Amino acid sequence: MDIDKSKKGTASVWAGELEEFYKGATTPPIVNSVTYGYHDLEEWHEVALGNKEGYIYSRNTNPTVAVFEEKVRVLEHAEAATAFSTGMAAISNTLFALLAPGDSVVSIKDTYGGTSRLFLEFLPAIKVNVTLCETGHHEEMEEEIAKGCKLVYLETPTNPTLKVLDLKRLIKAAKAVNAIVVVDNTFATPINQNPILLGADVVVHSATKFLGGHSDVMGGVACGKKELIKRVFQYREITGASLHPMSAYMLARGMKTLELRIDRQNKSAMQVALFLNDHPKVEEVFYPGLTTHKGHDFAKEQMSGFGGMLSFSLKGGYEKVKKFLPQLKWVHLAASLGSVSSLAGPPRTTSHVELTETQRAELGIPESLIRYSVGIENVEDLLEDLTQALNRI
Ligand SMILES: *Cc1c(COP(=O)(O)O)cnc(C)c1O
Repeated sequence: MDIDKSKKGTASVWAGELEEFYKGATTPPIVNSVTYGYHDLEEWHEVALGNKEGYIYSRNTNPTVAVFEEKVRVLEHAEAATAFSTGMAAISNTLFALLAPGDSVVSIKDTYGGTSRLFLEFLPAIKVNVTLCETGHHEEMEEEIAKGCKLVYLETPTNPTLKVLDLKRLIKAAKAVNAIVVVDNTFATPINQNPILLGADVVVHSATKFLGGHSDVMGGVACGKKELIKRVFQYREITGASLHPMSAYMLARGMKTLELRIDRQNKSAMQVALFLNDHPKVEEVFYPGLTTHKGHDFAKEQMSGFGGMLSFSLKGGYEKVKKFLPQLKWVHLAASLGSVSSLAGPPRTTSHVELTETQRAELGIPESLIRYSVGIENVEDLLEDLTQALNRI
């Protein structure tokens, strides 16, 4: 049986689960075994050399982790996938595996906070040259890329103002100088966007967010070209940033409802964005699905849905945010995103807490900004909740 990668609902459920499991189990067993036994020394040797399929030691490969990797590999149209303990493990291992002293990287100022620290602090420490361009300034990026670089690192839509990059255009610029293109696809998910189909070499995810989908398990994954993922995997074997089999099981279980959840979250987020956009107490709404959004045209071109993440600013500044947020009933006030339950918080307290007010302003993050991750609740409840909370400020 072959999986049709365009049928994402079927692929999410069945990928990695086509072979028969232990004693006919219909869900993947959680294989906690650290090590795998062999009666035949020759076979053991062949597996250890990588000439024959099999398992040796769970820091390197594990049957339950393989189920999760296969789901991501299929959904992202990748040749290979390798899983990590967290999203940051996936991103840092990918960058350190593919870069060496003297190499140059071109990226954007608005990458995820942890990724940005790698670019500003840890990669320069090993003499990797990093150029961070204004997010969305495509010409500036093309000029920087054209100077020659080893790797172009992209993220779209971005956190927290949902800026959208034109992937096709930037991938074309990267290919012209033979640069490796890595895309963080966490916000879009493979349901809404497949960067590999647009020419990207590697896609990374924080599986902690939408892939797991329940805010109860952490994980990460890198997938893409076989020879690149092999290098990333070999690096991970040594850094030991492996995914635990229990976490792999939970991620694979969460992924079975990925398409259902994302469909719902796409629709609800659009409704919430339209509602907020018309509200007199709201200053600005950032959602790629709004035709007024700066990146709407690229988003429409490269995404099949606009995602479950949005942000909005309130008139009257942070004082209003302080009054508004605690009034909401159907959201957790917390960091993170992508769960079945809605979740909200101010970037000045969550993702961008380490920046000064001026630095946030430079990134286009208003002090009264609220990031809102739309869950799978009934959207009428979310709208009613927002209405009552806005009425109280
Ligand atoms: C959360 C997040 C990460 C980091 O993932 P962790 O699982 O928290 O390590 C990376 N990129 C994006 C876009 C994220 O939202």
